[in-house]
Amino acid sequence: MSSQLQSTTSAQSIPSYLHADDLGPWGNYLRQVDRVAPYLGSSSRWLETLKRPKRILIVDVPIELDNGTVAHFEGYRVQHNVSRGPGKGGVRYHQDVTLSEVMALSAWMSVKNAAVNVPYGGAKGGIRVDPRKLSRGELERVTRRYTSEIGIIIGPNTDIPAPDVNTNEQIMAWMMDTYSMNQGQTATGVVTGKPISLGGSLGRREATGRGVFVVGTEAARRVGLDIQGARIAVQGFGNVGGIAARLFEEAGAKVIAVQDHTGSLYKASGIDTNALLAHVANTGGVGGFTGADPLANDEFWTIESDILIPAALENQITEKNAGKIKTKIIVEGANGPTTTAADDILHDKGVLIIPDVVANAGGVTVSYFEWVQDFSSFFWTEDEINQRLERVMREAFNAVWQVASENKVSMRTAAFIVACKRILMAREMRGLYP
Ligand code: NAD
Repeated sequence: MSSQLQSTTSAQSIPSYLHADDLGPWGNYLRQVDRVAPYLGSSSRWLETLKRPKRILIVDVPIELDNGTVAHFEGYRVQHNVSRGPGKGGVRYHQDVTLSEVMALSAWMSVKNAAVNVPYGGAKGGIRVDPRKLSRGELERVTRRYTSEIGIIIGPNTDIPAPDVNTNEQIMAWMMDTYSMNQGQTATGVVTGKPISLGGSLGRREATGRGVFVVGTEAARRVGLDIQGARIAVQGFGNVGGIAARLFEEAGAKVIAVQDHTGSLYKASGIDTNALLAHVANTGGVGGFTGADPLANDEFWTIESDILIPAALENQITEKNAGKIKTKIIVEGANGPTTTAADDILHDKGVLIIPDVVANAGGVTVSYFEWVQDFSSFFWTEDEINQRLERVMREAFNAVWQVASENKVSMRTAAFIVACKRILMAREMRGLYP
């Protein structure tokens, strides 16, 4: 091994385009990588690869507003790592999106994709825009101009965007159409999360919640918890939390507590999740549901449960409420719901945490299936998709569980070890070009 190829120090990893004293989410990611470095063995000489995004594109997105004026928005696409395959990751529309955030999210996609072993690298995109302030026509123009601008680095074989915060099937359809028009041919595989009629996949909508359920049942089996009658608490009753809750109830568990942005509910004998899903579809939230008792929002975290599923926002379990949580297993449906300080408190209390990079990877896994189906123009049944999803999630859980047991580390650290080793092994085998 050449000594020139030894990894450089962290100080050299700080890019000149971020503020060294406030790296934001990218700084959090760098600390996570440093934490797994001692476990990477010979791969650690490539560690610097993980601390530098491969490619960052910042674009100006000008559009004509409905009132005839021109507005400019800042857009990003970051490809963190493509050693294991094309970049893959969503596009976020939010007025507060920053480059540091998109860089961190792209890196977490590299980790997630490697942790569940789908053949992708990691990427992420974003536009600093509040989509609620745009008309439908303005939203379409922003999407099409952004897609054209990042069109030089995305493609079915290079980098495949998907929905994220404030982006959806319609936005994916506009992205696919714009890329296809520029290419002169329909390229359905350039994005995933598309409408079914444009090459989307059956089962994609439910995939993340289903993945949460699969790893939750695996975790329960490992700690000797019977799902029959197990008490489930869920924060967030949307796409991820609502589906996961319904699947746990169908498997015989009781969903005893639910919280969303409109309030919290409790029912010791178990909430009827189908009735609650119908209520949310009609009213926009769980508040006002008469099939359970209302609960003060703070009390939600004190309810004794067997499995707690945070499936709403980041930073919900903090040092303020972690000490009050009485549960056996936390399955992170949301991205980043647990702060580092809370993680340590819960670990000391013996709570098993299944980290987001494994627990919510069902979405990107079925995105991978969508991409494969688009390439072959042959579409699978929902049963086939669900079976394959279950297999991927179980294998990922088992690989991470084994590394956690062998090294006596948390499932989060183990997931990073598994993922970083896979990425750096690919880097090692490919070698440096030239
Ligand atoms: P969603 O919009 O369908 O649902 C979000 C839920 O969170 C809603 O029930 C909402 O009421 C609730 N919520 C919002 N603010 C809240 C607050 N202050 N307190 C309590 N609840 C609040 O979104 P989703 O697709 O279910 O995503 C949820 C989380 O899962 C996000 O962190 C997302 O990044 C993550 N995730 C989603 C997918 C996916 O495929 N949808 C994949 C991976 C990760």
